[in-house]
Amino acid sequence: MPDAVVVGRETGTAVTETHSTEARGDSGPEAARLVASRVLDVPDFPKPGIAFKDLMPLFADGQAFRQVIDEIVAYHGRASFDAVVGIEARGFVVAAAIAYATGVGVVPVRKAGKLPRAAYSASYALEYGEATLEVHQDAFTAGHRVLVVDDVLATGGTAAATLDLVERAGGTVAGFTVLLELSFLGGRQRLAPRPVHALLTV
Ligand code: AMP
Repeated sequence: MPDAVVVGRETGTAVTETHSTEARGDSGPEAARLVASRVLDVPDFPKPGIAFKDLMPLFADGQAFRQVIDEIVAYHGRASFDAVVGIEARGFVVAAAIAYATGVGVVPVRKAGKLPRAAYSASYALEYGEATLEVHQDAFTAGHRVLVVDDVLATGGTAAATLDLVERAGGTVAGFTVLLELSFLGGRQRLAPRPVHALLTV
């Protein structure tokens, strides 16, 4: 079982680092351990009761970041997709690196009102209220195979809306990858039968 160790305190809030003796994920225990060693649990952010999974330490470690990008590309196969979609905002970081590593283009899926041209919109329920994501209508050519990436999979609402947008814009979903999956929130089940690839599942 993963356990949490307090490693520091900032502005009165405990910052915890997740260590796992049995880290698991779809690319094996080594990749899972790598992510687990570079994620910080921030309690009560952005609101009370939420344990925020902060992956900035992974992004900031050049060697570890390159390794996780290579793991994602190896898992899917570099010839299996024609474009990478990143979900705003942390998904952009991962998507751009995969795009550069494989020589394909990157397409942002953005929060409502940010895209300058005609866009498709998909709304989904949040714990309180609703959120809307958008993609440009001309983002893909018909049949484009699209790898979708984000940092964290929680309830799966964000991912489900994004996969829907990709298909409405003419793309075919080639895969969906996250660095970290919160399995107790059931996102993977919500996205079924589409496969989910998570480097670390907690
Ligand atoms: P969901 O739609 O519930 O699967 O939420 C996933 C989206 O919200 C992703 O874009 C994540 O970046 C963000 N998110 C949700 N829960 C967390 C969390 N506990 N820690 C970090 N990011 C989260």
